[in-house]
Amino acid sequence: MAHPYHHAVSSVKIWGGTVEDFIGIHQWFDESKIITADFRHRALRHHAEGIFMLERFFGITLTLSTGRVVPVRLIGEQHVKEDLGFIPSFADWVKCIRPEPWMGRALPLHRCDQPAENAA
Ligand SMILES: [Zn+2]
Repeated sequence: MAHPYHHAVSSVKIWGGTVEDFIGIHQWFDESKIITADFRHRALRHHAEGIFMLERFFGITLTLSTGRVVPVRLIGEQHVKEDLGFIPSFADWVKCIRPEPWMGRALPLHRCDQPAENAA
């Protein structure tokens, strides 16, 4: 599993600049390891919607220390392709989630407008 540093080195080879120019973006993708320490952490951000979310955190473009301007989305695509070999949709990840009864559980909220029977 590639470390954010190695993704940043790869970015430097593609667009120039320094590891420091790119490391924040690659750390953002992989910080979901805080939640799940194995490869399944990628389900949180390693997909098309995650790449668009990246733009909301880092902006549309990144200006490198060299002055070159790089679209942030392209850096996100690089990261996901290096990890997975392609860019899945979130739906691709969802297809791999085994449904459990608790996932579809819901409280009968339509009854909330009725007075509570045992209210103190
Ligand atoms: Zn990653």
